[in-house]
Amino acid sequence: MNRALTQAFFSGVLLSASSALWADSSQPPAQINGAAGDFYAADVVVIGAGAAGLTAAVTAREAGASVIVLEKMPMPGGNSLLCEDGLIAVMPSPEISESGVGPNLPTTMTGHPHVHASIHSPWSSAAEVPLDDAAPLSAGAAALADRMLKEGRHSDPALVREFVSDSKYAVWWLEALGCDISACSSVPGMPGDVRLRRPASGEAVGYEVMRALLMRAETDNVQLLTRMRADKLMRDDQGAVTGVVASYGRGAKATFRAGAVVLATGGFAGGLSVIHGANADLPVLGSTNSPGATGDGLIMAIDAGAKLLDVDAVTFHPTTLPLTGRLISKAVRVDGAILVNQEGRRFVNELDPAGKVAQAVIALPNHEAWLIVDDGIVKKSSVLTSACGFASPDIVKSADTPEALAESMNVPEKAFVSTLKRYRGMAAAGRDEDFGRAEMASALKTGRLYALKIRPAYHSTPGGVAADVRGQVLQPSGSPIEGLYAAGEVTGGVFGRSRLDNLGITSAVIFGRAAGASAAEFALGRREKPFDWVESPQPESKQLHASQSASR
Ligand code: ADP
Repeated sequence: MNRALTQAFFSGVLLSASSALWADSSQPPAQINGAAGDFYAADVVVIGAGAAGLTAAVTAREAGASVIVLEKMPMPGGNSLLCEDGLIAVMPSPEISESGVGPNLPTTMTGHPHVHASIHSPWSSAAEVPLDDAAPLSAGAAALADRMLKEGRHSDPALVREFVSDSKYAVWWLEALGCDISACSSVPGMPGDVRLRRPASGEAVGYEVMRALLMRAETDNVQLLTRMRADKLMRDDQGAVTGVVASYGRGAKATFRAGAVVLATGGFAGGLSVIHGANADLPVLGSTNSPGATGDGLIMAIDAGAKLLDVDAVTFHPTTLPLTGRLISKAVRVDGAILVNQEGRRFVNELDPAGKVAQAVIALPNHEAWLIVDDGIVKKSSVLTSACGFASPDIVKSADTPEALAESMNVPEKAFVSTLKRYRGMAAAGRDEDFGRAEMASALKTGRLYALKIRPAYHSTPGGVAADVRGQVLQPSGSPIEGLYAAGEVTGGVFGRSRLDNLGITSAVIFGRAAGASAAEFALGRREKPFDWVESPQPESKQLHASQSASR
């Protein structure tokens, strides 16, 4: 990678030429270790260049391993790049100043409980911080763990404990990479040490995290190959993972020998056929995901004998625009938008949790509803501004009066006008007598009115491959598959059947670090004992099926 080009990309200059920044695998990648043919080798091969994959790659590299990252899309980032709001971490109060930047924070990583002494990393310069299972959790850590366990229903308590205890290290590590997540706010309903961290610039958190990770990967000579799709894991006679078979261009094959492989392929909320393979009862809906989120890692893990958890569980985003799948964030409802059905009536508390709002919309004919806003709300949201300006006239309607808007939506005029009148009255009185909405920030009386047709869409898949706190992929027996590690949305367990908002990137970094460190340690150990890495005959790839998923 070229640093100037990377910087240009992240300042938006080179978006259309992004594939030039990384080794573009429509051309064969540069030979590694001088092997003949399309054979390459590294201590650690990471599959997927989202936040989890690049975190694992940078961590493994810092630990002294050579690292290749395979990314099937033309550019890195995956769903991580799309994360807008911020990341939640439990940060002890004394370490946080009012500005959100810890006055005494180390500028380098203070160590990770799973980074072993044998691994030397410039980031672990200070004393290692052991995770003492008996140590009491802070108020925030206990409250967040409690909420994760309740919401997830099947969450693994050991992974949840790891999450709430290690989230601060994830923040410090990202900051040490030069990532700006210094803006800090509290999380409603949570103790003060549970913080939402965001870039002070107002930039989307996923973009800033990916920028910092890519810059570090580049500096550290991590080999990143885009348009290189991993198809299969190679295993030896004992079942240990020894590499990856990948494809690029028009079906050309490349083989990557690896001391250890990290699966970081993300979830499968972008793959409707995989979703239906895991749970045929789910509705046909669009997705908010990157097109790369199709569950490839799960299929590879099944073939390698991994245990899967809760793969029939999905989460929805309740409000996306049909056709484009453009997401209209909850902030728009917090700013005052209401939802009405084809009868012209409200049908849900618009501020209820995403899953509840989504289920209420899914129950309507065509899984559709109208999101009603006015000029005051539109002005606050760049997504709404562009949607109201450019979306298809079938999807966005506008009018000066409620009567005219009802007509353009083709909903009963009398019902819609009375819905709006009643809502305006309740907003003025500050009390939603119909659905108990806590805040009614707008009475929908400013300027023109707009109606946007919305549908829920698949948003995340909290289940996935079973992995332990060290990132080792587990078999149904509970013992690890040698040489195989996983992190990020490809894994299940930490979020059980439902993920709370703004925990995705934190999880990718916490468990990406654990997987990268463990993979490097294992691979460096394997260097001493050369192994036969010729691909052993593999059975035909299995498909994802709900019966393969266990629940805790
Ligand atoms: P996470 O950070 O949780 O791993 P992301 O969605 O951000 O999730 O990143 C996953 C990345 O993995 C995406 O960039 C996606 O394109 C990539 N990916 C998915 N399947 C493959 C595959 N078979 N080979 C290479 N890359 C893949």
